[in-house]
Amino acid sequence: MSTFSLDPGPDQLAVRDWLHGFAADVMRPAAAEWDEREETPWPVIQEAAKLGIYSLDFYAQQFFDPSGVGIPIAMEELFWGDAGLGLAITGTTLAAVAVLANGTDEQIGTWAPQMFGTPEDVKLAAFCSSEPDAGSDVSALRTRAVYDEAKDEWVINGTKTWATNGGIAHVHVVVATVDPELGARGQASFVVPPGTPGLSQGQKFKKHGIRASHTAEVVLDGVRVPGSCLLGGKEKLDERLARAREGARKSGKNAAMATFEASRPAVGAQAIGIARAAYEVALDYARTRVQFGRPIIDNQGVAFQLADMKTRIDAARLLVWRASWMAATNQPFTSAEGSMSKLYAGETAKYVTSQAMQLLGGNGYTREYPVERMHRDSAIYTIFEGTSEIQRLVIARAISGMPIR
Ligand SMILES: Cc1cc2nc3c(=O)[nH]c(=O)nc-3n(C[C@H](O)[C@H](O)[C@H](O)COP(=O)(O)OP(=O)(O)OC[C@H]3O[C@@H](n4cnc5c(N)ncnc54)[C@H](O)[C@@H]3O)c2cc1C
Repeated sequence: MSTFSLDPGPDQLAVRDWLHGFAADVMRPAAAEWDEREETPWPVIQEAAKLGIYSLDFYAQQFFDPSGVGIPIAMEELFWGDAGLGLAITGTTLAAVAVLANGTDEQIGTWAPQMFGTPEDVKLAAFCSSEPDAGSDVSALRTRAVYDEAKDEWVINGTKTWATNGGIAHVHVVVATVDPELGARGQASFVVPPGTPGLSQGQKFKKHGIRASHTAEVVLDGVRVPGSCLLGGKEKLDERLARAREGARKSGKNAAMATFEASRPAVGAQAIGIARAAYEVALDYARTRVQFGRPIIDNQGVAFQLADMKTRIDAARLLVWRASWMAATNQPFTSAEGSMSKLYAGETAKYVTSQAMQLLGGNGYTREYPVERMHRDSAIYTIFEGTSEIQRLVIARAISGMPIR
């Protein structure tokens, strides 16, 4: 029986303090500028790479931390620094997790290092699942991968949308259907190596928040990748497809869903970082802002708002840590605890940043203070990695055992 401890231990605390320093000294001073520029903050990513924060080694160490809280602690600190820059620094991990979750040891060894590059030559990776007509409904993907047996190559055609780092990434991981009749069970993930002809960036989106993170369409026009780029390999895919065609009960993991499940608590931790940052600004402001001859925090109405903000942040963190610990110790997610943690943390970030803006009055509404940016940044946390409604659907199905629609 594995024990559950809320003491992260000295190693994780040291990582937390180290990242906190980077977040405070490098990210925060740069946050407003890159939010306005809406460009990939290469100098910040390069600085993170130089320090070993943007590196496969660092994420692998946190990912394999046996307590499970390595990744949530890292995410919370970086996103406390700034969410747009945080996503620019961590966006690659979504593609890396897809390779880790679905790839063979050889594929992991080949592709994971290339996704990060080196401190001298930093690279990014992108995970491309969503499509214009397949967002929440991942079973509706139209991007098609067809096997060319004579050449042992897969030919991929389709249009992906909303891809973080899409088009500017060195390595793209693309989820495509290999048998449209099988829906989600007929899908597979492919690595598209750097410089592969036929892959291009479509529209780059102008966004409400997390504007330092690049989000774009990715067009795949006759993209040919070697057979070795099918994550997990052809034999495993053929077995999985045969089982699905026989109508066997769902046994294997759906490629895209497996990736989302593994990353949900980590995304919740990012939301907590934003919420904590906004709460701290609001607490500080409420203590020092004087109206009616006393600090505004002297009013119960204001102090109680802060009490609720702090309570929700701590509750969200407990859910995220529990889910991360469950994942690390292979506990079954019988009540969709991973989705629960992302749902609650995302909603908390939106709530706390909105309350923080209110507490700062007119100042909260301007770009002179960071809560306006934090409020914009928080909004994505009820949308990506499964909307709040989809998290509720997953939880409802898990607790009821019913095919709730
Ligand atoms: C900034 C950003 C970055 C992203 N990064 C990536 C990435 O790197 N890779 C990637 O593959 N994708 C990425 N996404 C895509 C993201 O995961 C999708 O936007 C998300 O899954 C929602 O899909 P959709 O936008 O098509 O909305 P829709 O699925 O069209 O949903 C619209 C609304 O309908 C609701 N809804 C839909 N179905 C149901 C239902 N059954 N019950 C109740 N409500 C429902 C939704 O909750 C939502 O409120 C990103 C998106 C954004 C905005």
